[in-house]
Amino acid sequence: MDIVGNINYIKSTLPAGVKLIAVSKTKPVEDIRQAFEGGQRVFGENKVQELAGKYEALPKEIEWHFIGHLQTNKVKMIVPFVSLIHSVDSLKLLQVIDREAEKCRRERVDCLLQFHIAEEETKFGLDEGEAEQLLSDASYASLKHVRITGVMGIATNTEDTGQRKKEFHHLKEIFLRLKQTYFSGADEFKEISMGMSEDYKEAIEEGSTMVRIGSSIFGERIYK
Ligand SMILES: *Cc1c(COP(=O)(O)O)cnc(C)c1O
Repeated sequence: MDIVGNINYIKSTLPAGVKLIAVSKTKPVEDIRQAFEGGQRVFGENKVQELAGKYEALPKEIEWHFIGHLQTNKVKMIVPFVSLIHSVDSLKLLQVIDREAEKCRRERVDCLLQFHIAEEETKFGLDEGEAEQLLSDASYASLKHVRITGVMGIATNTEDTGQRKKEFHHLKEIFLRLKQTYFSGADEFKEISMGMSEDYKEAIEEGSTMVRIGSSIFGERIYK
């Protein structure tokens, strides 16, 4: 498995302006170090404990993104150092991130709102109505240490590329409507995190700005 070769190949296929998040969940620190030494700086993890351990063990130049479901009681373990939380799906969670950021004197933590765009019920995320409620809540407006910089979604795990494209297109539309209504003056609201190993090409066609790629870089994951 040539990790650096895989990264360089994938990067050569990405249009300018699309950021590669190397998803290193379940993979050992040595694999991440190899990728780092090959020049990769942005990594994604989906478990709080695992992320905190890898943060401790690896160079501090790494930009860590949290991409998994985040429980409020674990927020404090990652807020001191995380660069972007892709998976905000409630006002409560945003409030806790805000409070923890203030406690550790971080000026602000960047977050994406996660939307449920897939057919599978098991996937997390907001629908558009819930997002509108969150964004028009007075207590959202009072948060000072969080900043929403875009949206994230996971498409249905299906061979049907048409279906996947439709779901990515839906997320792009949500992004555009939110931009117009709630973030029209906010240049930082610009990210659409969508696309994984199997579907990132469609995601890019539909306007992705961040692809989260794991197995095509590090190989299949083995879950014990
Ligand atoms: C695991 C994971 C990925 C990467 O998946 P691959 O299919 O290995 O590329 C991307 N996004 C999220 C949210 C994940 O949990």
